Amino acid sequence: MLPGIVLTLVSEPSFKTIIEPFRIHSVEPMRMTTRAEREEKLAKAAYNLFALHSDDVLIDLLTDSGTGAMSTEQWAALQRGNEAYAGAPSWFRFRDAVHDLFPFTHLLPTHQGRAAEKILFTVVGGPGQVIPNNTHFDTTRANIEFTGAEAVDLVIPEGKEPASRHPFKGNMDVAALRSLLETRSADVPLVLMTITNNSGGGQPVSLANLREVRAVCEEFGKPLFLDACRFAENAWFIKTREEGYADTPVADIVREIAALADGMTMSAKKDPLGNIGGWLALNDDELAVQCRNLGILTEGFPTYGGLAGRDLEALAVGVHEAIDEDYLRYRIQSTSYLGEALEAAGVPVVVPFGGHAIFLDARALLSHLGPLDYPGQALACALYVEGGVRSCEIGQVMFGLGADGVEREAPMDLVRLAIPRRTYTQSHIDYVIEVVTRVHARRDSISGMTITSQPPQLRHFTATFAPIS
Ligand SMILES: *Cc1c(COP(=O)(O)O)cnc(C)c1O
Repeated sequence: MLPGIVLTLVSEPSFKTIIEPFRIHSVEPMRMTTRAEREEKLAKAAYNLFALHSDDVLIDLLTDSGTGAMSTEQWAALQRGNEAYAGAPSWFRFRDAVHDLFPFTHLLPTHQGRAAEKILFTVVGGPGQVIPNNTHFDTTRANIEFTGAEAVDLVIPEGKEPASRHPFKGNMDVAALRSLLETRSADVPLVLMTITNNSGGGQPVSLANLREVRAVCEEFGKPLFLDACRFAENAWFIKTREEGYADTPVADIVREIAALADGMTMSAKKDPLGNIGGWLALNDDELAVQCRNLGILTEGFPTYGGLAGRDLEALAVGVHEAIDEDYLRYRIQSTSYLGEALEAAGVPVVVPFGGHAIFLDARALLSHLGPLDYPGQALACALYVEGGVRSCEIGQVMFGLGADGVEREAPMDLVRLAIPRRTYTQSHIDYVIEVVTRVHARRDSISGMTITSQPPQLRHFTATFAPIS
């Protein structure tokens, strides 16, 4: 065991079955497809899984973003939605629910996380600026680079090793941050921390690391912002892995995280259990004025910010359901259930298991392919053909194309099996385990991919591919 890991009993000790802490309230039928059908659909989609009709997907693990199931309380709250243009009661309920956990002075709702990023980086970015993060998410990096600024990833070295068992692989390399600030302080408008570190495998950040980052930020007079999409999962990892937090309520851990920051961007399609939504929150009055004015241009009046009143209501409920400890225990255990089964079957997976997803190490699994054969894309396509499981490449396709248009080797080639919240049961996951295991067994027969067309940014969404024969 690594130092600093505390073993905590996270479930009722006498039962090994993971109980989904909800019963099914309404159902959405799924359509079965044949292998031949899937091969045809995939070829028609030019081997880009984003181009599939989702009806042709059986188990959709493309993303956990906006794909979760809402609760009866959230559906009931929708009925309370008030659609007044300005100052609707739905806005005040949303504001109070967010403030209870993240008491930043200014709160600007947005239609999703990237809209908050777009606003923030339009104001603080620009040519010559540099924004450090543990690992920038794809939309964050793209929004920063779009302004001409530079996005720098400074995760600890263990965060780039799929097999390292460090309990907080999302931590920032504090020495690297310090050395960046020592040389380029004037170019750094703010420091960002992504919790959990999505692109790095859904890995958490410890409170100890956040405190150290905060101290360096204070030393150089820089604000610290959170990209806090998975704040609740990160807080659960702190509770179960970081010394001294086993008895702290998750809500208090979240407040402790918030107290270390000066602001945040949020995609409410993640932990806040919404199908749409996001926000930007911050303490700086002057920066808030600029962000609010920009938000009015693109998102709308600041008491609705791109969202219907009913969406604000659903989020006000969801943000608190996200920190329910029975829910979080189930959420994290059910994700590890998938990871443990795959690891036991000899499939190379990123360890320790992240909160929202299991990441397959495609570079290790398809070791006969080089990074420019796009092993992650090849593996994701194989999972779809095998059993109708849709996953997402996070590797050379997503990160290999620089802002200068030059292709460089990405640090890892992962395939993400993202688990939508409260959506699939254990038998669905058992099926996924079978599909991945079968693909693993025939891995030597999987060929690489080539890109046949691509846009200059965020190419994974719309690029087209062909298998190398
Ligand atoms: C999803 C996500 C975003 C962007 O949010 P959207 O709602 O998809 O625009 C930003 N950062 C991280 C870490 C994310 O997971």
